[in-house]
Amino acid sequence: MAIATVNPATGETLKTFDALNAGEIEDRLVRAEQAFQIHRTTSFARRTELLLKAADLLEADQDGIARTMTTEMGKPLVQARAEAAKCVKTMRWYARNAEGLLADEHPDPADVGDSGAMRAVVRYRPLGPVLAVMPWNFPLWQVVRFAAPALMAGNTGLLKHASNVPQTALYLEELFRRAGYPEGCFETLLVGSGAVEEILRDPRVAAATLTGSEPAGRSVASIAGDEVKKTVLELGGSDPFVVLPSADLDKAAKVAVTARVQNNGQSCIAAKRFIVHNDVYDAFSERFTERMAALTVGDPMDENTDVGPLSSEQGRSDLEELVDDAVHQGATALCGGRRPPEHRAGWFYEPTVLAGITPTMRIHHEEAFGPVATLYRVADLDEAIELANDTPFGLSSNAWTRDPDEQARLARDIQAGGLYFNGMTASHPGLPFGGAKRSGYGRELSGHGIKEFCNMTTLWYGPEE
Ligand code: NAP
Repeated sequence: MAIATVNPATGETLKTFDALNAGEIEDRLVRAEQAFQIHRTTSFARRTELLLKAADLLEADQDGIARTMTTEMGKPLVQARAEAAKCVKTMRWYARNAEGLLADEHPDPADVGDSGAMRAVVRYRPLGPVLAVMPWNFPLWQVVRFAAPALMAGNTGLLKHASNVPQTALYLEELFRRAGYPEGCFETLLVGSGAVEEILRDPRVAAATLTGSEPAGRSVASIAGDEVKKTVLELGGSDPFVVLPSADLDKAAKVAVTARVQNNGQSCIAAKRFIVHNDVYDAFSERFTERMAALTVGDPMDENTDVGPLSSEQGRSDLEELVDDAVHQGATALCGGRRPPEHRAGWFYEPTVLAGITPTMRIHHEEAFGPVATLYRVADLDEAIELANDTPFGLSSNAWTRDPDEQARLARDIQAGGLYFNGMTASHPGLPFGGAKRSGYGRELSGHGIKEFCNMTTLWYGPEE
C-alpha cells in the first residue's frame, strides 16, 4: 500500500511519501537502542516532566492535528478534536500515576522467608525499544495509549503506523521530540507492512504491540513467537449490544446509534450486533432505525456532520459486500444499504440497519467496519447470551438491563474483555482494555497496560553474614 494522504471525502491524493530505505531504518534502530540506554535510567520525575510537556503541546495543537486526522482518514472533525483531548488526558494520567503503578513490591517475609531470603523485592524494569504497529482508525489515540505508558516505564517506541495516516505519524514523532525526549526515544518508521518482519526480528527490538486486523495480528504474533518476543494484540471486534425488557428504551436507542456510528462506524469497540428481547424488539427497532436514518452524512470537516466517509475505497467495498451478501440471503435493510446518491465523490455509505440475519450470512460472523448494524430478535436471556457469544471475537460488549440477576448472569457468561451495562463501551486510562478470543490478548491502559512491556524482576537478598 502506498504511503500517502488520500482524502476519503474526495478521493484526492494530497501527499505521497517515500518509504524508508534499509539504511534509514538501521539509523533509527541504532538511535532507538541508544535512547533506551539513556531513557531507562531517567527518574520518574524526569519522565513525568517530559510527558506532561508533550501533553501540553498536544493540547495546544488540538485543532490542527484534528484537521490532519480528518483529512487523512475522514472522521468527523468534532470527534477528532475529542480524540486529541483524550490523548492529553491519558498522557497526564500516566504522567501522574506511572511511578505508583510501577512501584517496587515487597512480598510479605512470612510468605517468602522459607526461600532463604532476608527480603525480596519485585521490580518493574523496561524491556527496550518496542515496535508499535498501529491502525488508522484512531490515528492519535491508538499510538498514545501505547506510547504514554511505554515511555513512562522507560521503554522507547518505534511506530509503524498505517500507510494512510503518514502525516499524523510524523506529527507524533515531532511531538515527542519537541517535548524534549532524547533523540530516538520515539520514532516513526515510514514503511509498508512488508518491512515489519525484518524490523521485528532485529535483536534490538524487544517486543511488539499491534492494533489492527486479525490477519495482521496473526502475522506479527507468529514472527514475534519465533523470536520469543512479547506481544500485545488488539484486534477486531463484533461487539453485542443486548437490550432486555427492563432497559430504558429511549436511552438505549440513542446510545446504540452513537455506539454503532462513532468514527463513521470504524471502531473496534463499536456495538455491531444488536440483540433485542422479543418484548421490546419492535419498540427498540423503530426508535433505533428512525435515529439511524436521520443521521447527517457528509463532509467530515463540517461540524454538523454525524457520519463521514469510510477511510478507503477498499473499506467501503468490503462493507458493501457484507451487506449485499446478507440482503441476497434474505436480510432486510430497514434503512440505508447503499451509497448516498448525493455524495458521488469520496467513500460514503449510508447508515444501515439490517434485520433478519441468519448464521449463513457473512455479516453474522465477520466484522462490519462501517455504519452498518445488524438486529436480532431473541426470546430470552439464554438466547441473548448464546447469540452474543456466537462470534469469533470477544473484544467488548454492552447490555441494557436494570435487573441485578440478569446483570450477574451476563457478567458470568459473556465472553469478552469488557461488559458495559446501560452504557456504551469506551476506553478510559484507568480501566484495562483488551480482548478475548480472536480479538487478541494482553491489556492496554491502567496499571495492567503499563506492566505489559516491563520485565518483572525478582530481587532476592540472602543473608549477608
Ligand atoms: P490492518 O490492515 O491490520 O492494519 C493495521 C496495521 O497493521 C497497519 O499499520 C498495517 O500497515 C499493518 N499491517 C497490515 N498487515 C500486516 C502484516 N501482515 N504484517 C505486519 N503489519 C501489517 O487493520 P486496518 O484494517 O487498517 O484496521 C482496522 C482493524 O483494526 C479492524 O479489524 C479493527 O477492529 C481493528 N482495531 C482494533 C482495535 C483494538 O483495540 N482492539 C482498535 C482499533 C482497530 P499498512 O497500513 O501499511 O498496511
